[in-house]
Amino acid sequence: MRTSQTDVVVVGAGLAGLAAARALTAAGRSVVVVEARDRVGGRLMGHELGAGGTVEVGGQWVGPRQVRVNAWIDELGLERVETHDEGDNRFEHRGRLSRYRGPIPKVNPLVLADVAQAQAWLDRMAARVPLDAPWRAPKADAWDGQTFETAIRRIARTTAGREFFRLMAQAVFAAEPRELSLLHALFYLRSGGGFEQLVSVAGGAQQHRIVGGAHRIAERAAETLGDRILLGAPVRRIDTDGNTVTVRGDGVEARAGHVIVALPPTLAGRIIYDPLLPGRRDQLTQRMPQGSVIKCMAVYDEPFWRRDGLSGQATGTTGPVKVVFDNTPSTGGVGVLLGFLEGDHARTLGAASPDERRRAVVDCFVRFFGPRAADPLEFVERSWAEEEFTRGCYSAFMPPGVMTSLGPELRRPCGRIHWAGTETAEVYCGYMDGAISSGERAAAEVLAARTD
Ligand SMILES: Cc1cc2nc3c(=O)[nH]c(=O)nc-3n(C[C@H](O)[C@H](O)[C@H](O)COP(=O)(O)OP(=O)(O)OC[C@H]3O[C@@H](n4cnc5c(N)ncnc54)[C@H](O)[C@@H]3O)c2cc1C
Repeated sequence: MRTSQTDVVVVGAGLAGLAAARALTAAGRSVVVVEARDRVGGRLMGHELGAGGTVEVGGQWVGPRQVRVNAWIDELGLERVETHDEGDNRFEHRGRLSRYRGPIPKVNPLVLADVAQAQAWLDRMAARVPLDAPWRAPKADAWDGQTFETAIRRIARTTAGREFFRLMAQAVFAAEPRELSLLHALFYLRSGGGFEQLVSVAGGAQQHRIVGGAHRIAERAAETLGDRILLGAPVRRIDTDGNTVTVRGDGVEARAGHVIVALPPTLAGRIIYDPLLPGRRDQLTQRMPQGSVIKCMAVYDEPFWRRDGLSGQATGTTGPVKVVFDNTPSTGGVGVLLGFLEGDHARTLGAASPDERRRAVVDCFVRFFGPRAADPLEFVERSWAEEEFTRGCYSAFMPPGVMTSLGPELRRPCGRIHWAGTETAEVYCGYMDGAISSGERAAAEVLAARTD
């Protein structure tokens, strides 16, 4: 049994937990971080390719406006590299393939105008959602009383326009628009700097990758914490007795004055708390599901699509892969196509055999990039719904009615228990940047709290 007595225990060594621990350590507090997996980084994870080079099976891109994660990248001595964005993108709609540049496919002018007006509406409404309290938005009840799908049907007038917004919802939330509260979707859009930011490569959230992989951000941050991190110890219960919180995990018992739980809400809800958490907090954790995504990569001997003047980026409404990127490592040597299975497609194909899934994904790559895509050297996939200590990605979302009834519980501490994790972030919620700022916010809460 590993035992410890510190000022603070942090549960979870994803970016949020690491950020909390670093902030507390910098402020002179003693900290221990208890992590379930035998590695740090949580939703960030690297994969070594058989042919050499590393790709990410979890989070990977950062955008220029993501202040906290960029500060960490610089401080930790990591390097950014531009996401490959040269050449034409592919768009597939109703069996027809076309080429386009920029974030939005070139479709007929009527559809373009429809998408533009609906996008402007979304951004205008999102601008009215206060990031610190979305439930106080002027039309919070009306927006939280409908799904994003309902809104899409109202604001987009053309069938193709509606399909575009469904695709966008799947890509951004890894969920179907019928599952999402409109209020949550508007909050998320504003939190991420608006529609265009979230879907763009140049100047947007997909502009940069990290040399060696984004998981290195977590690994480097963990190095600065040394033996304060205890790996392989899933936390099972948290007991509060007077001024002491005891965190018990497999082979670990850690006592402290405060605990920061840096987990997605549904995982925080699976820990046993004594005394029980207030019902409102527990009910929130019952109502915030994780999205569904399988990240799939096919590895070739070279990025052959570049010779055809193609960027390796593709979108399409047919599926099952609806969003594709060139994910060739900056070290070169191979060519990698990355395709996401999201929402319903992740759930359906998640239940299929690995061979069926591979065939379905590779078939999409062939449609987008031709017959050379048919025979990859290696196929890499990660289904995040199957991960015991994540249970789905990219992050959690709120179905209708949750934000207005239970939203304030997301960050509200329960006695000596504080909450972090990207889901609790105001800015870049769901992203690495939000994870870091959430950990720093929770650390500041602990530092401001009475220590007796
Ligand atoms: C496929 C995919 C693609 C993504 N793409 C991007 C992207 O391009 N850009 C971007 O910014 N973000 C992206 N994200 C999201 C990003 O990865 C997350 O927002 C961020 O990593 C979340 O960090 P976190 O610390 O809040 O949570 P997590 O990383 O989930 O950390 C939680 C930690 O707690 C641990 N844990 C769980 N249960 C317990 C327990 N009971 N006891 C102890 N420890 C426990 C977990 O093992 C984990 O280490 C992506 C995510 C995925 C999965």
